[in-house]
Amino acid sequence: MPIRQLSETMINQIAAGEVIERPASVVKELVENALDAGAARIEIVTAGGGLNLIRVTDDGSGIPEKELPLAIARHCTSKLADDIHDIRSLGFRGEALPSIGSVARLSIRSRTANGDSAAEIGIEGGRVSAVKPAAANRGTTVEVRDLFFATPARLKFMKGERAESSATSDVIKRIAIAFPTVRFTLAGSDRSTLELPATDDSPEGRLRRVAQVMGADFPANAIAIDAMRDGVHLAGHVSIPSFSRANALQQYAYVNGRPVRDKLIAGAIRGAFADVLPRDRHAVTVLFLTLDPAIVDVNVHPAKADVRFRDPGLVRGLIVGAIREALANAGIRAATSGAAGMMAAFRPGAASYAYPGLANGHRSYEAAYRASGFAGFDPARSPQRPLDAGSANGGFGENDQAAFAAGSPHSADARAGQDEAAETLLGMALGAARAQVHENYIVAQTRDSLVIVDQHAAHERLVYEALKNALHSRAVPSQMLLLPEIVDLPEEDAERLALHSETLARFGLAVERFGPGAVAVRETPSMLGETNVQQLVRDLADEIADNDTVDTLKERLDKIAATMACHGSVRSGRLLKPEEMNALLRQMEATPGAGTCNHGRPTYIELRLADIERLFGRR
Ligand code: ADP
Ligand code: MG
Repeated sequence: MPIRQLSETMINQIAAGEVIERPASVVKELVENALDAGAARIEIVTAGGGLNLIRVTDDGSGIPEKELPLAIARHCTSKLADDIHDIRSLGFRGEALPSIGSVARLSIRSRTANGDSAAEIGIEGGRVSAVKPAAANRGTTVEVRDLFFATPARLKFMKGERAESSATSDVIKRIAIAFPTVRFTLAGSDRSTLELPATDDSPEGRLRRVAQVMGADFPANAIAIDAMRDGVHLAGHVSIPSFSRANALQQYAYVNGRPVRDKLIAGAIRGAFADVLPRDRHAVTVLFLTLDPAIVDVNVHPAKADVRFRDPGLVRGLIVGAIREALANAGIRAATSGAAGMMAAFRPGAASYAYPGLANGHRSYEAAYRASGFAGFDPARSPQRPLDAGSANGGFGENDQAAFAAGSPHSADARAGQDEAAETLLGMALGAARAQVHENYIVAQTRDSLVIVDQHAAHERLVYEALKNALHSRAVPSQMLLLPEIVDLPEEDAERLALHSETLARFGLAVERFGPGAVAVRETPSMLGETNVQQLVRDLADEIADNDTVDTLKERLDKIAATMACHGSVRSGRLLKPEEMNALLRQMEATPGAGTCNHGRPTYIELRLADIERLFGRR
């Protein structure tokens, strides 16, 4: 075949292959155009997942009648003057409309502020129709029908109505976060309506828009980020670790207001949370990077979702540093959603309220109460009086209790010195320990709340922080084993451990090769006490195998510390004396990040007295 020039339609269809992947990409391009036109309201309607119909209506500047043919011609744009290095609009390539017009039936109806009437142009599978007069308000309506009718091969790859609809919702949410002053509505026969009323451009307004998208409980579980380094500004919010998700879909990132999906940013977020989240959990984040447009390239891919930074190290360092610092400053803070959910569980009538009688069709609360067998309950005759279950069941008895139960009626005759000490404890963030229940939960009291601590999770976190600290200052003290312990392992694991023996020695673990497929352990970190050496060594081998190639040395050390901490912490089930419990609470208060365990679960929850009183109908 001789070489020949491709037809305009073919060229556009080839471009469409990259820009228009699925209905959601059409919606993205059309909404970006509306935003570039300065719209304050944007309405999106879809049918059949967007394959049958996509209609985007805006109240923006409109397109002058004589420019309509240009709008759908390739490489025609009103947005790029003559500097590709200074892009401030969302669009600039002038190829979205002609691409869409080459694979679907497209019509554009528009009216400018000073136009007397509206005009309309159509293009179907690349064939352009003449401009004709139309009736419309100021702004633009773009309608796309029968997407991919002209490219049946692409049509076959569509995932089905529901998947395509939800991809479109995701696109709208992602964009809407960056434009809080714009009102968005997304409706259609194929979906439930999504309405995002305009807020304002203040930090609070932005956070309100984020809450519209992410859920009303996000702000209460998020920490604000605001940092600047070498002219690059980072702002936004990240969730506290206990508010994590099973995938990274709830991570939104923006570069100069443009939504992006960037590996570097995602990696930096993972790095920042590596300490506090396990590998299969993901933080919820909304981050805005603002920098000189000249030092970031947005023209990497036609869909413009990729960016390239001139100084990737700077951007990564800024994100990791800012998030870690914010997490440390937030200190011990538990998930409010956990506590709020729990309050809801207690409250009669709540969806998750599991009251035995109600399940059996009892309508009134009172009937349910009686049916539950609690009627006639007399605390004094109860075989198991709260707080005194101790001696039998592993808590602590009345004698121990009195020694530190200041403020309770029983302490009237306690010695003055103890009263004073206990009074101080009540003023601390985590208060005075009152009891241990189910052999793992410490119940403590502050002046205005009830605190429940998961002792295993809390201790694990403390050991981890101590190990990390020791690691970054000096070697961790170790203890000699009377007899070296031999651990049999697959040869690669033995090899890996030997390779990292110097690092492990810094943690107080002395490991060396012991013939093929085995290592000998001569010393273990004293901090771990009696520990299952076999299990520890195997876990470490796994840890090294998983992370060897990707992570930096420091991150690897932290992970090893986390694995060791898990082995060294007070397992649930261990009974603690009152002094031990209080010591644990004080240590938690003094340790940054003690509000979550290494796996991102909260280490304690706090119930405000006011909420408890509400539960009992006292308020
Ligand atoms: P780009 O956005 O890269 O310029 P498009 O093909 O998406 O390319 O749009 C071509 C041109 O049509 C835009 O530059 C703009 O002038 C005009 N246009 C498209 N949509 C709208 C709209 N909703 N309101 C006003 N003008 C629009
Ligand atoms: Mg565009």
